[in-house]
Amino acid sequence: MSLHGDYDPQNIFAQIIRGEAPCYKLYEDDDVLAFLDLFPQALGHTLVIPKRAAARNILEIDAQALAKVMAATQLLARVLVDELQPDGVQVAQFNGGPAGQTVFHLHMHVIPRFAGQGLGIHAANKADPAELEALQARLVKRLAG
Ligand code: AMP
Repeated sequence: MSLHGDYDPQNIFAQIIRGEAPCYKLYEDDDVLAFLDLFPQALGHTLVIPKRAAARNILEIDAQALAKVMAATQLLARVLVDELQPDGVQVAQFNGGPAGQTVFHLHMHVIPRFAGQGLGIHAANKADPAELEALQARLVKRLAG
C-alpha cells in the first residue's frame, strides 16, 4: 500500500479499537490504546495507537492526537524498561509499504532490546498465547503500581 490513500475502517487495529477483534491490552484511555504485538520482534514488543484518529500514518494525524500517542509511548517505554530490564528500548514507526508498514492505522512500536539479541523478523512469528497472557499480566500490574 502506498503512502497516500483512503483510511480503511476494516483494518485490524480499527477492529481492535471497536472491540471486534481481540488484543492483549496493556493500557487504554479516551485517546490511546496500547497492546502487545502478536508477532513480537523481541520480548515485550508493544504497539501504541490513537483511538479517535482515522489516520493511516504520521502525515494524516493532527499534532494534538499525535502528542497523546507519544505521551503514551513514553509511558509504555518506561513500564517495559522497569518490568523487563532490557539493555535498550527501540521506538519505531513506519509510513507506507516501502517503509515497512503493513497495518494502515498509525502506530508506534515500542521494542525492548536485549544485549546480544538481534531484532526478530518483522510481523513473522506469532507468539505463544500463554506467554503473551503472562507478559500482559506482568505489565498491567506494573502499570497499576
Ligand atoms: P507495521 O508493519 O509497522 O504496520 O506493523 C504492524 C505490526 O502489527 C506488526 O508488528 C505486526 O506483528 C502487528 N500485528 C498485526 N496484526 C496484529 C494483531 N491482530 N494484534 C497485534 N499485533 C498485530
